[in-house]
Amino acid sequence: MTVWGSLARWELSTRPIHPESRLAMQRRWSELPAEVQTDNQLLGRSAIGCEGTHGVFPKCNLTCSPCYHSADANKVSVDGGHTLEQVEKQMAFARQMRGPRAHAQLIGGEVSLLPAADHAAALAIMRRHGREPMSMTHGDFDYDYLLDVVLDDQGRRRFDRVSFAAHFDSLMRGRRGAVRPHSEAELNPSRARFARMFTDLRRQHGVRSYLAHNMTVTPSNLPEVADTVRAVLDMPFDMMSFQPAAYIGDDRRWKEDFSDVSIDAVWSQVEAGAGQSLPWRATQFGHPSCNRYTTGVQVDGRFTVALDPDNARDIAARDTLLAHAGGMVFGGTPWPVLAVKLVRAALRHPGDVAVAVGQLRRIVRRAGGIRLLLRAALARRVSFRTFVVHSFMDAEQVAPAWDLLQRGVMSDDASVRETQVRLQSCSYAMSHPDDGRLVPACVQHSVLDLAETRQLRDLLPLTPVEASSRPAGLTAVRRTGSRVESRQSAG
Ligand code: SF4
Repeated sequence: MTVWGSLARWELSTRPIHPESRLAMQRRWSELPAEVQTDNQLLGRSAIGCEGTHGVFPKCNLTCSPCYHSADANKVSVDGGHTLEQVEKQMAFARQMRGPRAHAQLIGGEVSLLPAADHAAALAIMRRHGREPMSMTHGDFDYDYLLDVVLDDQGRRRFDRVSFAAHFDSLMRGRRGAVRPHSEAELNPSRARFARMFTDLRRQHGVRSYLAHNMTVTPSNLPEVADTVRAVLDMPFDMMSFQPAAYIGDDRRWKEDFSDVSIDAVWSQVEAGAGQSLPWRATQFGHPSCNRYTTGVQVDGRFTVALDPDNARDIAARDTLLAHAGGMVFGGTPWPVLAVKLVRAALRHPGDVAVAVGQLRRIVRRAGGIRLLLRAALARRVSFRTFVVHSFMDAEQVAPAWDLLQRGVMSDDASVRETQVRLQSCSYAMSHPDDGRLVPACVQHSVLDLAETRQLRDLLPLTPVEASSRPAGLTAVRRTGSRVESRQSAG
């Protein structure tokens, strides 16, 4: 590369907001329904939204009620070659449509059923396409597996940091050490063991991590959410995320009346567990019926919100920083590059420095002042925390709404129309390069998974079939030695 080429590359990499990200966000904002183009909306102003893989490794070796995967998921073998081919195609398309940076979940059935080398290769592909990957797991794997993902054959680090989201709740069956849990509390040792693997990883190998704790909520475990929050707040999870159960996926696993669990009911329980209110209205990802979110800093056991919706100065700071710096990527950016980005942003809008400093000072004051903060930091009692509730929709609600949207029709029926608006405001997209579409995860699980998994069952059967007896039009991508049968079939 010429000197000019290198300089141009450096200039682009240190621009506060990448021009393709800016364009993708502008497009996202213009496509949002008017009712969600609110002052607190982050989609299209600071974020493009999350992404997830699909059709990559549907199989799982635990049993959840509910399970969002279709009934055939466990009839598809886990195949590293197929996974990598799909991840490559899906992430390349996401990169093309949504710009150079986004958070993406490596999600299917259970990610730890992938051979560790394939798991690592999938993460590397996602990174290569500018995606910040998060592996979605039930958390029931050994430290050796984690080491094999993160370290290469010579014991060298493949990654400086990793993100995992672990799903723990008492609606799951088959976990080692808690095969049929009768309460959420029974799972606390498993939760702690999972989180400890990552503190060990940091201590022994210098690999940082971001950990999310996911929990499905039904009427039967709703009363236990508060105690679970109390327990998990003492563990090194960065995010606590709750999903009220929905009627999606395998209908054999719909065991309760899920309609009794609202986003408000779950949030009240989360607040009860945190022992304080968790203000969330300053920011919104997508539709308020889909997502509730707040982030801040936990100091000596007490959470302080980053943006207080009742503080006019916080709101003014939010608006200024969103307008000038929304879309600037901090996570995963090397420090020297980030430093230059910040200097360039400050030169462009010098007044923003005072706005950002003022916001930091208000956060420190709310957290108890600088002395308390320093004391807590020395005692390692300071951490960033994010609380999320993500409320999927029922399949019977999504299917007709999506069908109309595909035909360009907005329904006259208020509830169908609201579902359509939620789908149009979706913050969690799945990439379909073959037909050039990005679809909401609700649509993936409610409408598309069934046929996709059936096709995969023929392509990647548990018992391999001769190529000559494979249905026409299907080609298998399979590498010797990368195929894994389940450790324990949930059938
Ligand atoms: S996946 Fe469904 S519930 Fe989640 S943001 Fe998208 S439309 Fe809303």
